[in-house]
Parts: sequence; structure tokens; C-alpha cells
Amino acid sequence: MPELRQNLATREWVIIASERARRPNVYAEAPERLLSGNRPTFDPGCPFCPGNEELDLEVSRHPAEGSWQARVVRNKYPALAEEGPVLRRNNGVVRTITGVGYHEIIVETPLHNTFLGLMDVPAVTIALQAFLDRGRQIAADPRMEQIVFFKNHGERAGASLAHAHSQVIGLPIVPGDVRHRIEEARRFFDDTGQCVFCTMLEYELAGRQRVIAENEKFVAFVLYASSSPFHIWIMPRDHRASFLNIDPADLPMFADIVRNVLHRLYTRLNDPDYNLVIRSTPVKEPENGYFHWYMAVVPRLSRTAGFELGSGVWINPTIPEDCAAFLRD
Ligand SMILES: [Zn+2]
Ligand SMILES: [Zn+2]
Repeated sequence: MPELRQNLATREWVIIASERARRPNVYAEAPERLLSGNRPTFDPGCPFCPGNEELDLEVSRHPAEGSWQARVVRNKYPALAEEGPVLRRNNGVVRTITGVGYHEIIVETPLHNTFLGLMDVPAVTIALQAFLDRGRQIAADPRMEQIVFFKNHGERAGASLAHAHSQVIGLPIVPGDVRHRIEEARRFFDDTGQCVFCTMLEYELAGRQRVIAENEKFVAFVLYASSSPFHIWIMPRDHRASFLNIDPADLPMFADIVRNVLHRLYTRLNDPDYNLVIRSTPVKEPENGYFHWYMAVVPRLSRTAGFELGSGVWINPTIPEDCAAFLRD
């Protein structure tokens, strides 16, 4: 019998299509492109490789002096403009805000043939420090309401450049998707007095069927109500609403688990295309009891279609517990 599962935090339903479930190993096909680790260390045509830097786009480099390990650069074709006031206009159906904000790229390594899952923990820590530093700077801009960190890895995930990088966008609004999650988390807190994410983490750690990796500070698990195969959340054990408020002393632990999870995907699923996002509370919401930041990793192994568009309900052709076991072993 197929099963509908509800995500406790978002209240979104998915269909776990167990009748036509595919075994996790069918997703281990190598992509048509070169595996990330098999590319050359340097590509003369790559704008992110050392020597090709477009210095006028550079925002910061880490370390600040000498040869860099990570860089933050402005997107050459930004979705938003840095200069200008936030002007709102409401007139009937016309509701607009000037498109001010930030759209930057975090180049995570000088090497063309590696990525967070193949780098060592100190190198991943430097990349994540760049996320954090830049996120805090953008958050200090009073026009900003939401900061979104994300990564497109591979073509099916939307990447146009192979060199390992993530992006950060600062928005003058709180997106509906974020507001929905905040409202559901608030509702759960109102009903139970507890953080829904802490509650989920407690269940995952009690059952351990879906946990794939953990350390002192973080736990990674395949989501009970995964909307797609190998849908993973990496969650801090400590309750904290904003990634920007992470204790910098915890960054190496965060780097450790991010590397661990992405390394598993790389070796077990042959470098799948995936998206990665950090979900965090809006910039101007104070630290609170109801929201809890986390990183979601979503491999792009199945395609969405009209049913998902028409219902918001996803059909997952794998059993989350099987996916977790496949990644764990
Ligand atoms: Zn490159
Ligand atoms: Zn929590």
C-alpha cells in the first residue's frame, strides 16, 4: 500500500510510492559529465580558477592576504541591485518593491577539481566561514529582510559553471515559502510549547532509522516525509533560529558533517546533481523558541511534473529508510 507522509514542520504531504518503489542503487548511475574529482585542477576558461579572477567583482577573500582559499564575488548578472532605496507601490493588482538586494557567489576552493564533499574539514570550514561573514554583513543592511544561501551542483540542479561555488541572495522581502515555514513552526510552538525541529530531531535520534551521520553538534538524516530520493536535512543539535547566530566555534563541526554527507552522496551515488539550501529565520526576527535553522540537501534524481505543480504534493519513488541505510553503510 502506498503511504502519504506529512512533514511535521511544514505540514506538507508526500506520497511514498512504495508499490513502484525503486531500490536506492538505481540512482547510482554516473552522470554524463565528468565526476567532479576527475576534472583538471585548473581550467583556463573558468572565471573562478586562480589567475582568472575578475577583481572588480571581488567582495572579500579568505584569508584576506596572499593566496585565497575562498572568495566572495558579486554575480556578474545579479538578480538584484545593491544601490537604491526600498520603494513599495501598491495599487490594485500592482504591488511592487524596487529590486534592491545582494546576489553574490562564494567560490569555495581555488581548485577546479574538488568540492565540499572532497575537501578536508579545515578547507570546508574556511568556505563556511565565508558564508557566515558575508551573511552577517548583508544582514547589517537595514533594507534586507531575508538571506538565502544555496548551491546548484550539476546541470540538473541549475549550475552553469562547474567550479565549486554557492550563492547568497539578500532580499528586501520575506519570501512566502519562508513565511509559511515560520507560521507552521509558530503554530506548533503555540500548541506544544516546543520547537518542531527539536522535536523531529529527538524522534530521529530515538529511532535512528533515517540518521546517516552525526557529530557532537550536528545530525544528518533522510527526512521522514522526503519529497524526493535522498532528501537530507543537516540540523544543529543546539536550538538556534538563525544560521547567522551560530557559535563560530561550531563551524568546524558543521564543516565536518557537510563534508561527510556530500562525500557519501559522491561515493554512493556517483556525484549526483543536487541543490543545497540553508533555511534560517528572517533577518529581523529575533532569536526565538520556534524556528531552528538547518541545511537541506536535495539530490535532483527524479523529475517533477504536473501533479506536483497542481497539488504541491510530491511523489517520492523511494523509501526514505532504504535511502538512509544505503547512504549509511
Ligand atoms: Zn575553475
Ligand atoms: Zn529547535
